[in-house]
This record gives sequence, structure tokens and C-alpha cells, in this order.
Amino acid sequence: MNKKVMDRYMRLPMPCNKVLATYCWIDGSGINMRCKDRILNCTPYSADAAPGWAFDGSSTGQATTANSDTSLKPCAVYKDPFRLEPHVIVLAEVYMGDGSPAKTNHRKFCNDLCEFHKAEEPWFGLEQEYTMLDVDGWGLGWPKGGGFPAVNYEFSYCGVGAKYIAGRDVAEAHTKACLYAGCDFEGTNAEVMFACWEWQIGTTIGIKAADDMWMSRYIMSRVAEDYGVVITYHPKPMGPKHPGVGMHHNFSTKRMRSDGGYAFIEECIKRLEKNHMKHMKNYQHDEQSNRMRLSGKFETAPFDKFSWGIANRKASIRLGRDIKAKGKGFMEDRRPAGDCDPYLVCGLLMDTCLGSAGG
Ligand code: ADP
Ligand code: MN
Ligand code: MN
Ligand code: MN
Ligand code: MN
Repeated sequence: MNKKVMDRYMRLPMPCNKVLATYCWIDGSGINMRCKDRILNCTPYSADAAPGWAFDGSSTGQATTANSDTSLKPCAVYKDPFRLEPHVIVLAEVYMGDGSPAKTNHRKFCNDLCEFHKAEEPWFGLEQEYTMLDVDGWGLGWPKGGGFPAVNYEFSYCGVGAKYIAGRDVAEAHTKACLYAGCDFEGTNAEVMFACWEWQIGTTIGIKAADDMWMSRYIMSRVAEDYGVVITYHPKPMGPKHPGVGMHHNFSTKRMRSDGGYAFIEECIKRLEKNHMKHMKNYQHDEQSNRMRLSGKFETAPFDKFSWGIANRKASIRLGRDIKAKGKGFMEDRRPAGDCDPYLVCGLLMDTCLGSAGG
């Protein structure tokens, strides 16, 4: 599609009482998103102001055909970086006909914990790694016919130059679009594997971190569409010989950030160790592929074995180098796969470290 022609239509002024709203949500796969558009009479500046909606859940793997009406409950509103103001993108949660959250709606679990532990002020910083693929499914800029890029990994991480990286335009466009939308977008860098990149959301209080991560995933799909690039969050997209793709979750609470917080961090690490397998069951889209990633190689700790360490990138949980000197700080959970659901991971971190909502 020719973007120059498209621009003619994008510049058409809209009637002043018409606002385009894209509603987007997590589908039945738990990793892909869907969206549809509607016209509103005024800009909803908050989720409460955006009307609820419904869709055919039987076409998204979320309901049966005989009982297909599935509802969308707005949870966050962003400025639309593709149509510009006053148009919006509405992030929505999915609920079933009987009012229960859909199977892949883990936002309620996470938000209940955020509300319950509000006084603890949970902060999150999420590092989303991802891989750019050509439309044929092979790595962007990787030699056609199954070959590997002729570049050593140590040159691609934060790399510069066409020999070392591919797809910078996508990362750059995505950065601007996320900032325009209102995400707490924090930064981006080229990753160890050729055509693999990372962006960070944070440091953000409560549910907004995971909301912004999902919104920035949606925006990434749209930007990549424009460039004819396919994005995958698969934890081991190019097979066992190449680095994996994760989403490190950095987490702290008021207690951890306050003087003497190190003792509480140690306490939390003990709880995380006890609950290791419970977390591992929920840290990815598909267990087998995260097992491939968490092989003990390429800066990972083995899937089945919990470990922690200071400045250790081969540990399940890493603490920063200065944490002992300062006596406070935050922890980095390195276990979640690139295709995890941050609502689940953030939720479990609060549940294990701070206690269940209501209990
Ligand atoms: P690295 O790649 O070395 O792990 P990044 O800069 O990619 O480092 O990520 C560090 C993350 O830590 C950021 O997402 C940031 O928001 C997060 N972070 C920093 N301080 C805190 C804190 N006190 N609580 C929670 N997260 C934090
Ligand atoms: Mn229809
Ligand atoms: Mn990082
Ligand atoms: Mn990284
Ligand atoms: Mn990290």
C-alpha cells in the first residue's frame, strides 16, 4: 500500500464532533491482539469516559459460536499516533457473557493486587525483547536460504552499522509513536542477536506498566505493518544455537527502596525461591520454548533451578551491583519469556512477595 496516497486521506479534516476510537484487546491466544474501530462524538480522556463494547468472541478463540457475545471493558486510553489527536486508542479487557474475565484476561488479577498493595507503591520496569522477521518468516536481514548473519554476537548488542544491526527504522518509529501515545516509554537498544531489539517501559507505578507494555506491543504491530516487517516475541526464534528473547521484569516496593530495604529484598527472594515452579508455569506463552531459552547459556539460568546473584546475568533474579552498598534498591526477574503476559508476571511478583489480594 502506498503511504503517500494514504496521506491524502489522513489529512482530510474530520467533522468536529467525530472522534475515531480504535479498541484493542488481547485475543484467545494470549499474545496476539485484535482491534476494531468506532466513531465517538467526543474524545474519551479516561477509561471511564469510553463506552463499553462487544465483539464476536468465537472468531478470536474466546467464546463458542452459540454464546459468542463477548464484552470489551475499557481500561486505558491513549492518543492515537497513527491518526493523531483527537483520535484515540482504547485498551480494553475482555469479559465473558456471564461477567467473568476471559481466560486470557489476567489484568483483573494484576489490578486487584495493585489496588490491594497500593500503600506499598509497587514499581515496575519491563524490558521487552523482540525479533524482526521478514514476511517469509526468516530473520530480517538474515541471509536467505537458511544461513546465519556473518556477525559475532558481541557486535550486535547496542550495535551501529548495517553489518551489525537491521531494522532501526522500526525501533525509531515505534519509540516516537509510543511517546506520542502516552506510554511510559523509557528506552530502546539493539540486542545480542542480529535483528533482535529491546524497548523498556518504566519505571512505572502499578498497573500502568503492564497496560503500557500491551499498548506498546499493539503500536509495534501497527508500525511493523507499515514497514512490512513481522514481529515475534518467541523466546527462541532462531533455534538453540542463537540467543533467546525475554522480558526482564524489574520490581520494587516502597520498603525495598527505603533504608534497610535490602533485608526485605532478601526475604522476597526466599519467597520467590519457594514459588519458583509456580512462576515458571506462568512466565511464557509456551513452556517448551521458554525451556529452550532458559538453557543456562546466553546469559540465562536453567528453567527448573532458582538462583539469584548480584550483577549476575546467569541468575533467575539479579540485583544491581550497588545494592549492598546502598542497602536498598530493586530486583530484576530474568525468567519471563519475550511472549509472557506482564499482567501475570507483575501480578505473581506482588502475590508472592507481598501476599495475595484480600489475604
Ligand atoms: P539491563 O538491560 O541492564 O537489565 P535496562 O536499562 O534495560 O537494564 O533495564 C533496567 C530497568 O530497571 C528499567 O526498565 C527500569 O525502569 C527498571 N528500574 C530501575 N529502577 C527501578 C526500581 N526502583 N524499581 C523497579 N524497576 C526499576
Ligand atoms: Mn459483523
Ligand atoms: Mn535491558
Ligand atoms: Mn535485553
Ligand atoms: Mn535486564
